[in-house]
Amino acid sequence: MTQGSNPNEGPLAIDLSGVSKSYGRRVRALVGVDIHVRRGEIYGLLGPNGAGKSTLVKVMMTIVRPDSIQGTVLGRAVGDKGALATIGYLPEHHRFPPYLTGRQVVEFSGAMSLVPRRERKIRAGALLDRVGLGAWGRRPLSSYSKGMRQRAGLAAALVNEPQLVVLDEPTDGVDPVGRREFRDLIVALRDEGRTVMLNSHLLSEVETVCSRVAIMVQGRVVSQGTIDELTASSRRYEIVIEGTVPLWCGTSVAVQAMPPGSLLTAGISGAGTRLVFLGLDAAAAQPILDRLRTEGRTVVAVQTVRESLEDLFMRAVTDPTTGLIFKPGAAS
Ligand code: ADP
Repeated sequence: MTQGSNPNEGPLAIDLSGVSKSYGRRVRALVGVDIHVRRGEIYGLLGPNGAGKSTLVKVMMTIVRPDSIQGTVLGRAVGDKGALATIGYLPEHHRFPPYLTGRQVVEFSGAMSLVPRRERKIRAGALLDRVGLGAWGRRPLSSYSKGMRQRAGLAAALVNEPQLVVLDEPTDGVDPVGRREFRDLIVALRDEGRTVMLNSHLLSEVETVCSRVAIMVQGRVVSQGTIDELTASSRRYEIVIEGTVPLWCGTSVAVQAMPPGSLLTAGISGAGTRLVFLGLDAAAAQPILDRLRTEGRTVVAVQTVRESLEDLFMRAVTDPTTGLIFKPGAAS
């Protein structure tokens, strides 16, 4: 593993193993989930609808009782009131009464977290300013856009000055400008030393802000690590040249110059002729470059290319035997 990728390297904010939860006899929402989130990181929880992400978050927040669970959240047993008081939680599809003002929502949340009255009034003003709703604090939520309601929800989630912030689909239905603002807020929370667990199906958002991710499918974590680690096996080396595909590509001459089977594809694309090698490093690429130069070829680009998070995600959620997306709910 690369430096910083091992969850055991730093203190853990979330350190859970063997989390299982069934709803009735038929739905196995979580099947032995292990999840390890370091303090001070933004951690992305990904998965198709029905994968069990919200159930996992609800178990952590003690809204749902698990069938089995081991480990700690913020160093304490799950459900420890002291630890819960230092978690900020923005649930998916939260619905505050529309007649409440933004300020009332934040103050109400502060009261629920036992923040003293005077303090919660001060914090409500500061937090509404912080999420860009300073001028809207005395207006009812019914006059807010979706993005504004989410920002009010975030302010409410932060009123207890949490060490761990759990955001369940925070930008669902929010327009691109609002998403960008939300993302900046999430990064700022991390920069203050807070841990953020971001549950989202917006892969670009996760790719931009998260240091590590877990992909859940049918109640199980199928991959967990940095995006670099998870895409390492797909690393390809591309050499783009001018002109046609060299005849020796794919022949025994090419095989001698590189590890067997490493030439993946060779084809003409917009920018030139693209030779794609799998698992090649810079040193191993040199003989190929030498040969190309000897032949008078112009090398336009040499670059390492990896699978995107979207490719990785699609691979994780697709059944390799049928080519179909896995259905929600765990297979036995
Ligand atoms: P996600 O957040 O990844 O979309 P969920 O945790 O909401 O997934 O759901 C996981 C599975 O559990 C799904 O099959 C869902 O239908 C089921 N489920 C969730 N909540 C309940 C519930 N309260 N009662 C019965 N089944 C539920």
